[in-house]
Amino acid sequence: MLVTNHVLAGALVGYAAPGPVSAFVGGVASHFGMDVVPHWGDRPIETVMHIAVADGLTGLAAMAWVWRSAPRRKRWRVLAGMVGGAMPDLDKPSTVFFGFSPFPAAWDEFHSVIQTEDSRRMPQEIVVGAALGLAVLTWSRVSRPHA
Ligand SMILES: [Zn+2]
Repeated sequence: MLVTNHVLAGALVGYAAPGPVSAFVGGVASHFGMDVVPHWGDRPIETVMHIAVADGLTGLAAMAWVWRSAPRRKRWRVLAGMVGGAMPDLDKPSTVFFGFSPFPAAWDEFHSVIQTEDSRRMPQEIVVGAALGLAVLTWSRVSRPHA
């Protein structure tokens, strides 16, 4: 699954959470919940590196956009939700750049066995990302204090 979608789902968790710690934990839970749902993937990382790099940069840009659009009183919990949502996928860039995963082997094994990947599901990723982005935009607007 695209990390950008994990970031946006984590932002929604952050908006709903009472504080940053629950937002982070909820963001991690949302990651694994989303990975169970059939999604795009099932291709060797070497063959999708251009997508992975674009997705990583888009995810970072999404974090900056969501942070900036969040009302000040909710920024830390929204950021914590996004970080929690993206954190389980840190094994991918870490393995590519440094040759190892930062997580225990049992964590990586669990993360691997729950995947339901299909290389034809990219259109679904785009639609899910657009829907999540719209939901985050809406939530940021409605939670802004009326001035
Ligand atoms: Zn994952």
